[in-house]
Amino acid sequence: MVDWVMHSRGEVSWITFPGTEASGLTLAFTTRKGGASRGRYAGLNLSPKDGTASARRQNMASVADALKLPAAPLFPVQKHTADLSVVGFLPRRRPVADGLLTNVPGLPLGVVVADCAPVVLWNPTARAVAVLHCGWRGVVAGIIEAAAVEMARRFGAGPLHAYVGPAIGMCCYVVGLDVAEAVAGSGDNPLLGSHFASDSQGLLRFDLAGHVRDRLALVGVPPDNIEVVELCTSCESELFYSYRRDGVTGRCAAIAMIR
Ligand SMILES: [Zn+2]
Repeated sequence: MVDWVMHSRGEVSWITFPGTEASGLTLAFTTRKGGASRGRYAGLNLSPKDGTASARRQNMASVADALKLPAAPLFPVQKHTADLSVVGFLPRRRPVADGLLTNVPGLPLGVVVADCAPVVLWNPTARAVAVLHCGWRGVVAGIIEAAAVEMARRFGAGPLHAYVGPAIGMCCYVVGLDVAEAVAGSGDNPLLGSHFASDSQGLLRFDLAGHVRDRLALVGVPPDNIEVVELCTSCESELFYSYRRDGVTGRCAAIAMIR
């Protein structure tokens, strides 16, 4: 396990893992610090649809500048599915998908989140990357399994590295029995149902990041290659947007680009 680090350039701050840049991947889990958005979206809101257009443009330009990207990242239209889109160039229309894959250098891809787990898969041998939006619905739909299969099929074999960004923690993520049943029933492995616990008040809590980590291991990502940013988006209000905490709010992003 490698500890994550916080980097800043200008007003923009993001989390990354040491060594990713040297391996040829720019990887960033953005925070809400800095940014031009105001009100409920205050900070570096990277939602492609919420807040004012001028703030969105400014925030996107700040991120591209801070991360030294040649263009603003491509964000898909997310629907909590397992749908993936393989991207070879910046399209005119945003793909409808919850994961984007590429092996093209210089093409910045991202997903936006406010409590869901952002996941980046990196195959340094094949030089291919995937960026995934993993809430419980997408996980149940099989987005992690689909992405691992598609990475190998499209871009070739080689051990994957997985980076799981900040998500809502068990401390703050109370779910219904329907979620536990859907998650536990979404595969044969009893491990899949093991990320729930009842607290002293009888409330059911879900460890989404822990679940994602175990699913990544089950699809063959070597456990030593799985890194998790163990920060709770709901607890860390200075750093992250949280849908569960605030309802109407902005979005942070996971961004990846092959160098
Ligand atoms: Zn929390």
